[in-house]
Amino acid sequence: MNNVFGVYNPVKIHFGRGLIAETGRIAKKYSDSALIATGKNSMQKTGTLDRVTKSLKDAGVKPVVYDKITPNPTIKEIDEAAEIVRKNNIGMIIGLGGGSPLDAAKAIAVAAKDNIPVWNYLKTPADKALPVITIVSTSGTGSEVNRYSVMTNPETGEKPGFGYECMYPKEAVIDPEIMASMPPYVTATTGFDVFVHALEAFTGKAINAFSSAYCMQAFYLLKDNLLKAYNEPDNLDARGNMALASALAGLAIDISGVGIIHALEHPVSGNYPSVAHGAGLAALAVASMKYNLESRKRDFMLIAHHYGIKRAGKSDDEYAASLIEKIKEVLAALKLNITLKYLGVEKDKLAKISKEAFMTMGFAVQNNPAPIDEKEALRLLESSY
Ligand code: NDP
Ligand code: MN
Repeated sequence: MNNVFGVYNPVKIHFGRGLIAETGRIAKKYSDSALIATGKNSMQKTGTLDRVTKSLKDAGVKPVVYDKITPNPTIKEIDEAAEIVRKNNIGMIIGLGGGSPLDAAKAIAVAAKDNIPVWNYLKTPADKALPVITIVSTSGTGSEVNRYSVMTNPETGEKPGFGYECMYPKEAVIDPEIMASMPPYVTATTGFDVFVHALEAFTGKAINAFSSAYCMQAFYLLKDNLLKAYNEPDNLDARGNMALASALAGLAIDISGVGIIHALEHPVSGNYPSVAHGAGLAALAVASMKYNLESRKRDFMLIAHHYGIKRAGKSDDEYAASLIEKIKEVLAALKLNITLKYLGVEKDKLAKISKEAFMTMGFAVQNNPAPIDEKEALRLLESSY
């Protein structure tokens, strides 16, 4: 385990049913105006957006709604929203929805400070941002509690993540009631994202005692609640436990990063924006886990244990490998035993995807337990095809 490290996370977390009604009281501390960054459909249809705007108005905070954030948000949307913030002198950003609006909110908060395109912040570190509040509706990315933002350049297909200290949300509202409306496919894809965060942080080179504690609790919660939330959408206990798992795994990747599954997935959904992040991860997970198995046998055994797999006379090798079999079963139960081909990825794009993983997700590649080069990454993509 890594014995030289720092741990920092300033996000104030509010967890509990019905808490979105408190948004106004929470937000009022930061400004009397807020841009709400949200998607095009779900938060309107479920009435959640109305509840949030009402709470803000009741507290004397003026809301301005920007509801054009697409899944896998683009730099165009972010720059457009930042312009609205500057023009109207808005004092804070509220991200409302899944990882896409939350990531967009953090990027808008940075981009609104200066009149330069958000893409420039990949090279020029930012040290100031407007205050951000996250209200999360998927579980999920963990974006509600970490500093990362992932954005897509639609012209090139590049989909890098970035995150500076000023981008931490001030406060996160985690209200399981607003997650019950997730359709099965969103529950499945976002829930599998939680598993991959915990897996990649736990087995990554940058793991430490703090992040591993978060991961272990996340595995434990996933074991009992991922399929339950999928099969019983209205089960608020399962929804709440998945929301906790998401936040814990989100804290873990904030400390210890991700690995090759995320490095390869970003250029997949960057080049094919209709692919849900978690679906891309599902297509890539099994081949990548097999690739890493040998270098992290003990970790795989530990995860198998936390995932409730019985040892029952298995050798170390068999027990470590049983985690991969278990994950195949989980993917099948979630109807996510899918391939890149099934997701519409063209075979002749695999080389570009492999190249971009190294270009835009270098830290994740470096953090992967087993060393990997572009050729081996291409082979992983081919076996996931
Ligand atoms: P999205 O935010 O993209 O949401 C996916 C879909 O689910 C959207 O159509 C959305 O609706 C809908 N939806 C969201 N919440 C609900 C709900 N409660 N009820 C019904 N429908 C709902 O999904 P994710 O949360 O998976 O976020 C993915 C993004 O986050 C990707 O860009 C990914 O790369 C990034 N990411 C960020 C990480 C981080 O650490 N910051 C880590 C991992 C991934 P609508 O269209 O209305 O928004
Ligand atoms: Mn992810």
